[in-house]
Amino acid sequence: MKLDHLGIAVPDLDAALEFWRDALGLELVDVEVVESEGVRTAFLPVGDASIELLEPIDETGVIARHIERRGPGLHHICMKVDGLQSHLNQLNAAGVQLVDHQPRPGAHGKSVAFIHPKSAGGVLLELAEPGEKA
Ligand code: ZN
Repeated sequence: MKLDHLGIAVPDLDAALEFWRDALGLELVDVEVVESEGVRTAFLPVGDASIELLEPIDETGVIARHIERRGPGLHHICMKVDGLQSHLNQLNAAGVQLVDHQPRPGAHGKSVAFIHPKSAGGVLLELAEPGEKA
């Protein structure tokens, strides 16, 4: 398992890029809209991992609700895995509370699934398996 990215909820992606790209100097490699999640994402690599900025594109998406309840900030941590479904089966068998029992499509053609913060020390944990595009 490798750290893949840290997801940060931001109310305004362009304003966030003024810090992460312009002031801090990270390179912006990709911006993608994930309609199913109601977000626009920006990826900025840091070593082997990335910072993922998540901006809501509608008021009902998960990121919009997160910002409304908790304000902007760290939203989730993502680990890269092989065999996502078998990881989910194992975790489920171990009594871990899963948000997704089946992988679903994420950014960059990846398959992703989330583990509930109740089972992960208060952290929303994403597992991602690279798809054919990655
Ligand atoms: Zn993510």
